[in-house]
Amino acid sequence: MPLTRRNFLRGAGALSVGAALLPTLRTSNATLRKMAAKTPWYRKPTRTTYTVCDICPWRCGVVVTSAEGRVVKIDGNPRDPKSRGMLCARGQGGVSFLYDPDRLKQPMIRVGERGEGKFKAVSWDEALDYTAQKLAKIRDTDGPESVAFLGHTNGDSWFVDVFPQSFGSPNGAKPSTSLCTSPREEASLITYGLAVGNHEPVDWDKARCLTLIGTHIGEDARNTPMQDLANARARGAKLIVVDPRFSSVAMKADLWLPIKPGTDTALLLAWANVLITEKLYDREYVEAWTHGFDELAKHVADKTPEWAAKITDLTPDQIRESARLMGRQRPQSVIVPGRHVVWYGNDTQRMRAIYIINALLGAYGREGGIYLTKGPYLEEYPHPPYAVVGGAGG
Ligand code: SF4
Repeated sequence: MPLTRRNFLRGAGALSVGAALLPTLRTSNATLRKMAAKTPWYRKPTRTTYTVCDICPWRCGVVVTSAEGRVVKIDGNPRDPKSRGMLCARGQGGVSFLYDPDRLKQPMIRVGERGEGKFKAVSWDEALDYTAQKLAKIRDTDGPESVAFLGHTNGDSWFVDVFPQSFGSPNGAKPSTSLCTSPREEASLITYGLAVGNHEPVDWDKARCLTLIGTHIGEDARNTPMQDLANARARGAKLIVVDPRFSSVAMKADLWLPIKPGTDTALLLAWANVLITEKLYDREYVEAWTHGFDELAKHVADKTPEWAAKITDLTPDQIRESARLMGRQRPQSVIVPGRHVVWYGNDTQRMRAIYIINALLGAYGREGGIYLTKGPYLEEYPHPPYAVVGGAGG
């Protein structure tokens, strides 16, 4: 038979089918056992454990699946109000986090010079004794107040609020909170008389206009607000995003205001100007619930969009349009307090301006705005007076 292109391809096809069949024909018991060992986890008996994700302080409820004593999958618990069956990317990556070969699993004591990177792994008892001896020595030579205790997030109140008191030091602090949410809490206390609290009390379900200033939900925020924002958008809520970057949430906004960094307070004053001069504020709410409206109106009278445009690099139209959008949707219109609000040093004042605008919109304490939170009442357990009272934060 002459070797044509068609014959050659036919022959090659037959050869490859024969080669593929060969290993099957030779399959022995040993191979079958080996194959069985590679059975994927979802074909093996699994165990389900209900717990919380501790990768960030939000603490979503999770459902953990393990096979043969090893975690293989982490899902959001559908009955948990925070995760609602979904997790953020960090939570999803929890399995790799758990089995990361570089994960710190026990205390380490430095054995080399500082910066040399030499440590030895020790037991918890050894680590605690070592630390206690060192702390006692500093207390006896320099006094207890020479030690500061700095903590952050879940469980830190024992370390920052309780332990320093028993040690005799007034220096317990949460510096990371001071770099994150403290200005929004302080400003809220000054303006509304009530701190925001750890979970932003925004009524996402009813809001008709949401304004984010420097808040990049989806890049930096926690699981639940991201779901809430996505649901609000799906429902048709308007979204205004103020951010120098075209962030992931800016891409979804009705209006994106690429502001010059550090000029947000000028924008807020101009928004107040537009809301007041165009009578887009909630007059009845302001009369019933606020103090100092006349002073505010006087203060922002010359803070026009033209004035702010020169400072913010936005156009007067962008400033007017965004103020009108939020004003028309009042009182279901809210500037979200946000997280990570320590930027330029004027943060508490900027947050006060945000809260004042929320009051102009009639959104504070109203449906579709910011709701008032109330914790469960627990009788305080008797204890000696604290020298320092812990701050807010998470
Ligand atoms: S927000 Fe993400 S990292 Fe934080 S607790 Fe929830 S799933 Fe875990």
